[in-house]
Amino acid sequence: MTNSKIALVTGANRGIGKEIARQLSALGYTIVIGARDAAKGEAAAAELSSGGRAVSSVALDVTDAQSIASAIAHIEKHHGPIAVLVNNAGILLDGPGGFDSSLFDMTGDTMRRTWETNVLGPARLIQGIVPGMLARGFGRVVNISSLAGQLADMGSGFPAYRMSKSALNALTRIAAAEASHKSGGGNVKINACSPGWVRTGMGGPAAPRDVAKGAETPVWLATLGDDGPTGGFFQDKAAIAW
Ligand code: NAP
Repeated sequence: MTNSKIALVTGANRGIGKEIARQLSALGYTIVIGARDAAKGEAAAAELSSGGRAVSSVALDVTDAQSIASAIAHIEKHHGPIAVLVNNAGILLDGPGGFDSSLFDMTGDTMRRTWETNVLGPARLIQGIVPGMLARGFGRVVNISSLAGQLADMGSGFPAYRMSKSALNALTRIAAAEASHKSGGGNVKINACSPGWVRTGMGGPAAPRDVAKGAETPVWLATLGDDGPTGGFFQDKAAIAW
């Protein structure tokens, strides 16, 4: 164990989030898996904690403000202050405006549900956790974004998801800028990253990357040294265009 820092990874019962939890755990972090289905979170925590690692889970639906507040209170009571927040939970819906669909077919329901999970959830978690990080003078926040949200290369298709990830990038920059103006902000680093196209439930079987590669840059950002960047967008540990 290199330290006892507490890391909350949202949507970590499977996919890239679970692998981020596994890698951070191997580095000595105390991991709390946030899962909207408590049983799935407990199963993932049991798997990752084999060998004596400190991994537990908490019920956390990022679309539910009360669930977010309860999860933060639970972690602070049972583990301590959160040093690392990984906003990983995300959805790419099927149907009109979702995967393989046009803006001109998008429904309000698709946009609203995507927004609530991919943008409002991370914003509420940042609101709930970053003030404590600033007060303590330490914190790392990683927002798992996507090349699909990159304005520099914006194209057609899955409009709700694309807009949500562009908004998550905006949230990253706003949060980083506001944090850096506050006391303790110098050592609270808030960044976004693309994991690349990864073989998961969302990425599908044809994706070229495995979860270990997808988790590499998020884990790097979660463990940045005191001289690391803030307010950036990264893939493969290198800055990319917004
Ligand atoms: P995934 O396999 O579909 O897993 C998504 C995770 O998010 C699941 O654990 C899911 O929980 C959870 N989740 C969804 N809605 C939630 C909510 N309301 N509250 C809490 N958890 C919720 O996806 P992934 O590929 O690992 O994606 C992880 C992140 O990487 C996402 O933000 C995604 O947009 C991003 N990303 C992925 C790729 C890729 O190629 N895979 C590429 C770029 C970006 P359940 O098990 O309960 O559904």
